Amino acid sequence: STVLAGHGLVKKYGSTTALAGVDVEVRKRDSLAIMGPSGSGKSTLLHTLAGIIRPDEGQVQLRGERIDKWGENRLSALRRKRFGFVFQFGQLLPELPAEENAALPLMLEGVPRKDAVARARRWFAPLGLEGLEQRRPGQLSGGQAQRVAIARALVAEPDVVFADEPTGALDQRTSTEVVQLLTFATRETGAALVMVTHDADVAAHCDRVLQVRDGRISGHSHFTVA
Ligand code: ADP
Ligand code: ADP
Repeated sequence: STVLAGHGLVKKYGSTTALAGVDVEVRKRDSLAIMGPSGSGKSTLLHTLAGIIRPDEGQVQLRGERIDKWGENRLSALRRKRFGFVFQFGQLLPELPAEENAALPLMLEGVPRKDAVARARRWFAPLGLEGLEQRRPGQLSGGQAQRVAIARALVAEPDVVFADEPTGALDQRTSTEVVQLLTFATRETGAALVMVTHDADVAAHCDRVLQVRDGRISGHSHFTVA
């Protein structure tokens, strides 16, 4: 079943057409990598699907419900509750221990700190973070920090996880570890994954790859049978 869909997405910045009519669908447990040259519209597509950028034309649907016309407050609540986000780096709060960083989305929803931290801690073993619960982000390696960010993206059991260059700041070996954990853990929760990456080896861990060029889909490949 389709969780998230964009149909006929168009986004312009002045005379620049960032998206020129894009159609994309992701299903439960589906992982989709978006690749393409710099400036081709990858980030704009991810941000449009995530309700951060409003398209000029077209529709975005979450579980069949149109969200592209929603107001800012409703969209930001939707992003908090139904979406998880992993960015390139620098997304953890430096003064909080790893377990509280991972628990933040639940705390923002009003879950008491103790309960939120207990739920976040369940992710530490599967993500290879056992024993690092109390570390501050400054005391974590780049790969460990990204794994805490994955725990945070998944802790509220979102429908979709959006990852924007999640391995962009990591070396090749750490990138492989992080993308394996990201795809595996996201699939475990039943969420869909939408990831922008420049790295073909990272993209190959996803079920499907969309190639974007000049704001259009220029190619689409399947790595595994869904
Ligand atoms: P990519 O992620 O593939 O590098 P982007 O989606 O960031 O591409 O950008 C697509 C095009 O839209 C580029 O030409 C970029 O310069 C332009 N663009 C993106 N965001 C803005 C913005 N906020 N204002 C003006 N132009 C933008
Ligand atoms: P990426 O290539 O990974 O998208 P950029 O540094 O190009 O990263 O873009 C970072 C942010 O700046 C994005 O949110 C994008 O929308 C915005 N942006 C990109 N191009 C422009 C532009 N020409 N003018 C204004 N904002 C832009």
